[in-house]
Amino acid sequence: MSILNADLHCHSVVSDGTLTPEALAARAAANGVELWALTDHDEIAGQHRAAAAAHAHGMKYLTGTEISVTFAGETVHIVGLGFDPDDPAMRQGLLDTRGGRGERAREIAAGLAQAGIKDAYEGALRYVGNPELISRTHFARHLVESGVCKDTSEVFRRYLVDGKPGYVPHRWASLKDAVQWITAAGGMAVIAHPARYKFTANEEYALFTEFKAHGGRGVEVVTGSHTAAEYVRYAATASEFGLAASRGSDFHSPDESHTDLGKLPFLPGQLTPVWELLADRIR
Ligand code: AMP
Ligand code: MN
Ligand code: MN
Ligand code: MN
Repeated sequence: MSILNADLHCHSVVSDGTLTPEALAARAAANGVELWALTDHDEIAGQHRAAAAAHAHGMKYLTGTEISVTFAGETVHIVGLGFDPDDPAMRQGLLDTRGGRGERAREIAAGLAQAGIKDAYEGALRYVGNPELISRTHFARHLVESGVCKDTSEVFRRYLVDGKPGYVPHRWASLKDAVQWITAAGGMAVIAHPARYKFTANEEYALFTEFKAHGGRGVEVVTGSHTAAEYVRYAATASEFGLAASRGSDFHSPDESHTDLGKLPFLPGQLTPVWELLADRIR
């Protein structure tokens, strides 16, 4: 086992989490995290705050983000770690990726209105911490608070996934662009929670192959989105493709997330942890 308590995937109010970067840092430190990364969706506005808060709690820090990508008609998430947060091309790429979210949110609300749910845009906005980063999660919180569903997973199941009234197809960044922004900014691209995608075996093979060809170097093996069986499966995939392995809770909120910061099994010992390859990027 790699017995470092690293948590390299979580979200703050800068995207769709409910805690500030400072509150997340305090919680991570209290849970024993030694190396931390904040990985807000398509956004790095919280990075300087997160690094300062990590250091105030005696934790090491890697810069982070989670980029939304469209691959083979599905949304795939690519985590970036250890990049320069002031890199202009990376910042522009993330700005462009965030760009369509406002209009998409209006369309989500229009779909929900057709299903009889009025004013969902205004409702979702009340939960948004960053006006550039309105996400399905904010709609889900609004629909729970207004009594339409009992929890956010029910909202997704009934309203926000493909085939449901509030689902809006969207084109995010390309896999190639996302991997290259991260890599050119000195960081490492990592495939987030691979078990979550509804890919055939051939599509998954294509994802890993193209990701590597573009310069991607890591994959999440131990994540809050995987079962124990999926840790084993993606440990094998990491070895097969020669990828380093990452570990992260994907924590969003004390009320919603089932995996808390720092509370995951350690990485299996035969794998190379991403932080070994990023040693000179750790602050
Ligand atoms: P978006 O980027 O707006 O498409 O929102 C994606 C976010 O929605 C993910 O990062 C998760 O935080 C959340 N999410 C996706 N699927 C579910 C689900 N089934 N239950 C709860 N949250 C979900
Ligand atoms: Mn999220
Ligand atoms: Mn994700
Ligand atoms: Mn995430």
